Amino acid sequence: MDAAAAELQELRALNAELERRVIERTAQTEVAVSNLHAQMSQRAQAEIALRESEERYRRLVELSPESIVVVADDEIVYVNAAGVRLFGAASAAELRATPLIELVQAEDRPRIAEGLRGLLDAGAVAPQAEARLLRLDGRTLDAEISAAGVTFDGRPAVQVLIRDVSERRAVERMKDELLAVLGHELRTPLTSIRGSLGLLDGGVLGPLSPRGQRMITIAVSNTDRLIRLLNDVLDVERMQAGRLLLELRPHTAAELIELAVAEMRGLAERSGVQLIVGEVDGVVEADADRIVQVLTNLLSNAIKFSGAGAEVRLSATTDGSNVRFSVADQGRGIPADKLEFIFERFHQVDASDARIKGGTGLGLTICKSIVEQHGGRVWAESKLGLGSTFYVELRSVTAAVPLAA
Ligand code: ADP
Repeated sequence: MDAAAAELQELRALNAELERRVIERTAQTEVAVSNLHAQMSQRAQAEIALRESEERYRRLVELSPESIVVVADDEIVYVNAAGVRLFGAASAAELRATPLIELVQAEDRPRIAEGLRGLLDAGAVAPQAEARLLRLDGRTLDAEISAAGVTFDGRPAVQVLIRDVSERRAVERMKDELLAVLGHELRTPLTSIRGSLGLLDGGVLGPLSPRGQRMITIAVSNTDRLIRLLNDVLDVERMQAGRLLLELRPHTAAELIELAVAEMRGLAERSGVQLIVGEVDGVVEADADRIVQVLTNLLSNAIKFSGAGAEVRLSATTDGSNVRFSVADQGRGIPADKLEFIFERFHQVDASDARIKGGTGLGLTICKSIVEQHGGRVWAESKLGLGSTFYVELRSVTAAVPLAA
């Protein structure tokens, strides 16, 4: 083979190799391009899905009947349509231009500002709270608010859900006022009826037939119950309106217990229940009449819910900073899930308690108000079927003056 032929052959081989490489590269490029296409379409789909989900969330928030506000650096950065309406603003922009603090009543401002600051960690959630807010027209609104930390436009923010409860509060106030007015209006004629019935019952107006006597006894007991109910309703109303003035003086626990026991001894004897005073120690600063009212109420419940032959034990102990009164009975007990609720208005464990035991369901509400106004606390522990113990804890003081002073 001459040199030219050898060169030609080499050239052909190179050419063939080149063609093979081109085909291989083309195939590789096609695969890469098709991968790229797949990746791009996946990303595009993810972006569409994200946009759709954002859009759904945005519409949900925007159309929510609850007012939603997002706050960052003490400014409103987002408010939904319900929020704009709630505050009486013409637009979201108008509300966003209003400093947040101007939308909260002066006395609630420090509490709300502190609450919001504490939530700036995304994910932090605050328990539901109440606040008095201010509309742009200056009107006040009672609101329930829940808040949670979020990230908004990349910065820490707080998302606040606001529910207007002004109407509910107004109805509650009207109900309380109505009860108060009714109570006052009813008490006078009722007291006069009770007086007349007492005269009849005592035979002052002449003898009655046995049947007549029985009817009068029933009428007297029902009138007494009605008067008790009215007095309780009026007491609750007075306390909730903050119109109960306490005359605070130092008293020994022993004096207060002695007075309560003296008042309840008769009921205990009639019910066949033994009243036992255990260890008594400590001095408290208290309105004696009111604390005796608390203790007699607890004693009367303890006697009422015990059977004949049972014991009711009253004691007071102190650890130096607090005095803890306790009234323990061996009665029917209170179910664990009711222990908290019995301190609420008209809550009774058994719906028949009012009728059979003559209670009003207000006694413990009054006790709680009185004790809390003294800065103390009241609670109960109980074992169903074995008995209950009610505790009243008041701050302890060192010196006592006699009750008569
Ligand atoms: P009431 O006037 O009905 O006694 P209270 O507010 O004093 O109202 O008590 C509320 C309810 O709590 C009672 O009706 C009763 O169901 C329950 N309760 C209170 N004290 C006791 C007790 N010592 N033992 C069992 N149940 C009790």
